[in-house]
Amino acid sequence: MGTEFLKIIEVDEAKKIIENLFKENYEVKSENISIANSYNRVISKNIDSTIDLPPFDKALKDGYAIKAEDSFGATEENPKILKCIDSVKAGSFSNKTIKNGKCIEISTGSPIPKGSDAVMMVEFSEKLNESNDIAILKSVPPTEDIANKGSDIEKGKLILKKGTILNPVKIGLLSAQGINDLDVFKKPIISIISTGNELLNTNEKMDYGKIYDVNTNLIKGAILSSGGTPIIKGIVKDDYNQLKNRINESLKNSDILICSGGTSAGVGDVLKDFIEESGEILIHGIAFKPGKPTLIGKINGKIIIGLPGNPVSAIIVYNVFIDPYIRLISGLSEKEANKRKKFKLAKRIHSAKGRMEYLLAEIKNNEVYPIFKDSGAITSLSYADAYMKIPKSTEIIDAGEIVEIILL
Ligand code: AMP
Ligand code: MG
Repeated sequence: MGTEFLKIIEVDEAKKIIENLFKENYEVKSENISIANSYNRVISKNIDSTIDLPPFDKALKDGYAIKAEDSFGATEENPKILKCIDSVKAGSFSNKTIKNGKCIEISTGSPIPKGSDAVMMVEFSEKLNESNDIAILKSVPPTEDIANKGSDIEKGKLILKKGTILNPVKIGLLSAQGINDLDVFKKPIISIISTGNELLNTNEKMDYGKIYDVNTNLIKGAILSSGGTPIIKGIVKDDYNQLKNRINESLKNSDILICSGGTSAGVGDVLKDFIEESGEILIHGIAFKPGKPTLIGKINGKIIIGLPGNPVSAIIVYNVFIDPYIRLISGLSEKEANKRKKFKLAKRIHSAKGRMEYLLAEIKNNEVYPIFKDSGAITSLSYADAYMKIPKSTEIIDAGEIVEIILL
């Protein structure tokens, strides 16, 4: 125990190793779910329309189905009189055919009777007497207030592409098609363990020398936003056997395990020993600030990720190295490109040469304010809107320079 880092590798090399690890050890799966539970899920197959919408020629207004030509020349002063021969409510239909001089009372949403080519709005008509004479007060062209069968969507047309995230309106569209269940990407199940003798659950009483566990809930939220299903496996002491038991138990029902803490090479840092013994370590140490003590490995075909315990480091390592691949296997597109923005730097930055650095930053009035608090400062997380990448070879970036940031 308490050995040294295996080999510090460069950021790009680490990304390649992690990409392959996900490709080789996680099979992207689909599952069929009810439309009622589909909010925010990602569809895994193109969906074609199954029916014409509207399914029949439909009235768009309450009023009278007529032959348009019967209304030509009608005005309020000089109305045309039609005989009403039937009345139809939404959900039912009339068997009668409209001939010249006739009309059928109709409600919004009901099928247009045979022979009719226009709807006269009720506002431009008047019931004259008990003998069903209707005064038409306006001239309308053919097709007035009729939605033709299939005019919204034709049967067999692509309506949603694979990879679409289901929001309320898209779920509405599928409902209109009578689609009751659908195939979506299965969410990867990801267990979370926080390690450290100093950690307390948020429901425990504070004690001298202890701190509350931040990473469990921090990582849980991050996993949800990457499209995974997080499972909280709690806090484990810096103890080889405890960690071993908790990891083995967690791996039974998860695809991926994310631990935090105990990933360095000091006394009590036992995660590395355990992975080495039970599986294979692929990365221990990335030339990256903050986040050098990152451990990546696998055990029996399951992906094991060890994030640094420091919450700021943990979330940056997660965002840079883990989020893109969890998004990928969850069917979400790599959205990082959309999250990149360029702004003016408000304050000069000094960075250590020889190591890529990611700095949290606050964006105010379209300017980037780097957050210089020590990397253990939790409040730096609450101010941060973004992080910026400082290349290995850069030592100084002056205020006023345009820099690229990645929104959190
Ligand atoms: P470690 O990576 O275990 O060496 O921890 C680095 C720093 O992060 C130490 O100050 C730990 O107390 C702190 N730390 C580790 N795990 C957590 C956690 N889950 N929540 C908050 N702080 C943590
Ligand atoms: Mg620790």
